[in-house]
Amino acid sequence: MTKTIIVTGASRGIGAATAVRAGQNGWRVCVNYNSSPDKAEEVAAAVKVAGGEAFTFKASQGVESELVAMFEEVDRRWGPIDALCNNAGIDHEVEIAESTWDNYMKVFNVNILGLMASCREGVQRMSTKRGGKGGSIVNIGSISARTGGLPKDVIYTATKGAVDSFTLGLAKEVGGEGVRVNCVRPGVIETDIFAGNEFGLAEVKELVKKLAPLGRIGQPEEIANMAVWLMSDEASYCTGMCYDVSGGR
Ligand code: NAP
Repeated sequence: MTKTIIVTGASRGIGAATAVRAGQNGWRVCVNYNSSPDKAEEVAAAVKVAGGEAFTFKASQGVESELVAMFEEVDRRWGPIDALCNNAGIDHEVEIAESTWDNYMKVFNVNILGLMASCREGVQRMSTKRGGKGGSIVNIGSISARTGGLPKDVIYTATKGAVDSFTLGLAKEVGGEGVRVNCVRPGVIETDIFAGNEFGLAEVKELVKKLAPLGRIGQPEEIANMAVWLMSDEASYCTGMCYDVSGGR
């Protein structure tokens, strides 16, 4: 069945891979981005080459009005969504002793407040109680929620703990309304998220060689496969779970 989906933060990394993987299923994909319009257009083109339909939409996951406008644009073009992948997220390397209120607001705003607002918009459209056809939400968390995260990552890690518990609670709230809600928790994946960090990609790769039973960093496509499967009808009995995709870590 052709699905209409939104992938937030789909201009790069895990979100981009998820959009393209959904395209391989022939799905219609809203490719959300914030600051990388050219990369988002490339992803939309790749979705179409893969067999799907796509358009790009600029909306910050940290700005409620922009998120709402995105859902309304999808309604206008394709009708209500069938699935939603809340992938947009930011890292912010800072030790707690050096941290500021602004640090907390910045990371929580995008990683959890925006994710909750996006879920609200999704539930309003998919809930059978509200006239929808049901659907599936996949939130991208992190195994840092249970490992405690990388050095200087405690604030980011706290946002991902919130993603886990919000996913579980929301799954209970809307399970009877035909909406499945799950979380995919990546281990360390080779993306731009480490760019600019003191503990950067090279350091992370070395660490993961020792920590992960598979002995290597993951690739965005390896997360995308799980996210798209959870959005598909093949995952019809899966809800309220956090699935680690972490090379065994
Ligand atoms: P990435 O390569 O840095 O890409 C981040 C994506 O999020 C970009 O497309 C970016 O879009 C978008 N984004 C950032 N701020 C946004 C905002 N305010 N509104 C909308 N979109 C925004 O990151 P990634 O590694 O693919 O991470 C994706 C998700 O996986 C995040 O939730 C992250 O926490 C999680 N994760 C990643 C890893 C890892 O090792 N990579 C591990 C665990 C969890 P623009 O460029 O257009 O701004």
